[in-house]
Amino acid sequence: MTAVTGRPTGARGLRCKECGEELPLGASYACEFCFGPLEVAYDRDVLAATVTRESIEAGPPSIWRYADLLPCAPEDPTAGLPVGLSPMVRAPRLAERLGLGEVWVKNETANPTHSFKDRVVSVALQKARELGYEVAACASTGNLAQSVAAHAAAAGMTSYVFVPADLESQKIIATGIYGCTLVAVDGNYDDVNRLCMELAADRPWAFVNVNVRPYYSEGSKTLAYETAEQLGWSLPDRCVVPIASGSLYTKIHRGFTELLDLGLVDGRVPAMNGAQAQGCGPVAAAYEAGIDFVAPVRPETIAKSLAIGNPADGIFALDVARGTGGGIDAVSEDEITEGIALLAETTGIFTETAGGVTTAVLTRLAERGDIGPDERVVIYITGDGLKTLDAVADRVEPVTISPTVDAFEAAVAGHRSVEVLS
Ligand SMILES: *Cc1c(COP(=O)(O)O)cnc(C)c1O
Ligand SMILES: [Zn+2]
Repeated sequence: MTAVTGRPTGARGLRCKECGEELPLGASYACEFCFGPLEVAYDRDVLAATVTRESIEAGPPSIWRYADLLPCAPEDPTAGLPVGLSPMVRAPRLAERLGLGEVWVKNETANPTHSFKDRVVSVALQKARELGYEVAACASTGNLAQSVAAHAAAAGMTSYVFVPADLESQKIIATGIYGCTLVAVDGNYDDVNRLCMELAADRPWAFVNVNVRPYYSEGSKTLAYETAEQLGWSLPDRCVVPIASGSLYTKIHRGFTELLDLGLVDGRVPAMNGAQAQGCGPVAAAYEAGIDFVAPVRPETIAKSLAIGNPADGIFALDVARGTGGGIDAVSEDEITEGIALLAETTGIFTETAGGVTTAVLTRLAERGDIGPDERVVIYITGDGLKTLDAVADRVEPVTISPTVDAFEAAVAGHRSVEVLS
């Protein structure tokens, strides 16, 4: 295999999250000593000496402006699909509706495949190619499938994508179109993941969320970096983030911690609020029960992109929730669709079900009085509404008329007040 070269970054090695053992930056994902999960470790002195606000601002308009803080970086940061620098949108009408002071929406629907997964896939596939992999693969709840297929296509890699067979048809079509081998598995995500772990054991394929997972998960830190940079190098007081495996939630927290540690921002780590669906809320349940293990559940929710019953980073998510003064809530199916509609009506942003979960948790926090009047809150809207149209199809009903003014006026008379200019 021919490895692509990358440019050096501040990454030093892989470190076991359980016992602290360090390994070189290879294709390992479990500790050789205790089988604990591995994460990327950085040389803090190198970062402190090289990374400044100015060095970041001088970088490319994509996640690669933060390359020094990532495990790998392309030689040419303009190659491939450009990911990141998604809009940070002030949401005054949403804030007003909920009686809150300052709410911002980090709009991740603006990425190339319309979800935040493009961040993690960009980083994972860059590292996979540096390690000599020519085949990309993944176990997906939907958005990862689409992103892996697209980024593999852009990089000229072959891809194999495994999804639960009951996935939304929008996501199946939007994945297969990139020319991947799309495998629909008769089972839920946890079954798909188990199969992929077996396949990864004896195939020279980069499963982005299995054998190159330590690199994959680092991509989510860029959401924290962008949040701070787009708020003029300051931190929000509170963040609301959806949780599936818990990787996104814990890595956004890690990104803020790193910025504070390097002196790139002042203040304190935001309160981190996690968002799950009641139909798949194992981390929220553990939080509520005050315990520090996560009991697996069988997912049953319209928020399919969050439907991981046995979340790999669940226990780390509990630490973040408790350590930052945040929390983890789970919302009902009705609250999810209400959340989608509320966000759309007050911001003009149409989110998939995961964003409905996030918006519904924001609503809960506001109603419970958990958010102070002066707090600056950021909600992470991680995927596009066009991916899960069926979830809200029955909320939308056009007024059907014959093409006459009379018919129009008769139809809208009982519908809503219409001002006619005379
Ligand atoms: C994958 C995903 C998440 C969160 O995933 P984690 O496994 O917790 O990192 C959130 N929202 C959407 C839309 C997703 O696709
Ligand atoms: Zn270990």
